[in-house]
Amino acid sequence: MKERIILIGANGQIGSELAIALRQKFGDENVITSDLKEPDKLKDGEIFETINVLDKQALRELLEKYKPTQIYLLAAMLSATGEQYPQKAWDLNMNGLLHVLDLALELGIKRIFWPSSIAVFGPHSPKNQTAQYCIMDPNSIYGISKLAGERLCEYYHLKYGLDIRSVRYPGIISWKTAPGGGTTDYAIHIFFEALKSGKYNSFLSAQTELPMLYMDDAVRGTIALMEAPSAQLRIRSSYNLSGVSFTPEQIGKEIKKILPNFELSYVDNDPRQAIANSWPASIDDSYAREDWGWKPTFDLEALTKDMIENLKTIL
Ligand code: NAD
Repeated sequence: MKERIILIGANGQIGSELAIALRQKFGDENVITSDLKEPDKLKDGEIFETINVLDKQALRELLEKYKPTQIYLLAAMLSATGEQYPQKAWDLNMNGLLHVLDLALELGIKRIFWPSSIAVFGPHSPKNQTAQYCIMDPNSIYGISKLAGERLCEYYHLKYGLDIRSVRYPGIISWKTAPGGGTTDYAIHIFFEALKSGKYNSFLSAQTELPMLYMDDAVRGTIALMEAPSAQLRIRSSYNLSGVSFTPEQIGKEIKKILPNFELSYVDNDPRQAIANSWPASIDDSYAREDWGWKPTFDLEALTKDMIENLKTIL
């Protein structure tokens, strides 16, 4: 069967790169991007529609118009922004997901991708090699909404047979699009500032270790999960997914190998530190490796080199 795919929230950090890969794979005519805001640029042949995922009737009309076989729901409010607007974060993250799940059932849409996050873990979750199944006590509104979303996804799969697939993304590192207000954004800002001003004031402390993933791996892994045979997938809440873990100090050292004059300092008392302190340092993703062959390819050295090489061409 020919796939036709709609991405909702497609202009953000992840959607804009997933859209490129999906258009290459399935053709421009079979990939529709949608978002609240217009994209900066649209190439000939690419299809875009403005949509508010919270407007269920408009979303129904969009889905009826294009009759997609797959939806990628990427619209969400991220961790740091969510703490500033908790009610809006809850509304977007929960009702956006519920609208998509309900309309997928109503309209018989075959397959859904919805990302969760390492923010589903909390202060009592194990810090290192955090397991798929463990204590989960998220204390950010973002993490609470993602954990509730995971339970909804599994519920819709078990109760209604909806083919929903999900990963708990770690911090995603990329250079094409600005990050969307998360706690791991420092690991992107640091590269922009290293090249622009030669110094960076990190909002996380030197020893804050967090799980990260390079965008190329994230896109490849997401599409691999969407293509995996349904029967192989044991997890319908959300798969742990791991790339590479590092601290601000470690990434600073790696940048210095290429830009020796780079200077790194640290801010005291940034509110994002408390969120980071409640998250794991590293993730055990053995279910993803066993069920659908997940394996990341970028380590800290490789992603640092790739970020700097690419950013040099656009800054
Ligand atoms: P982003 O903030 O960069 O992009 C989100 C997009 O959704 C934006 O283009 C925004 O305009 C759009 N949007 C917001 N409200 C909308 C609405 N009501 N209707 C339609 N579109 C709307 O986010 P991202 O980093 O691309 O993240 C995508 C998904 O991945 C989210 O679910 C996020 O929670 C998850 N995730 C991201 C990361 C990361 O490091 N980027 C890590 C873990 C999980």
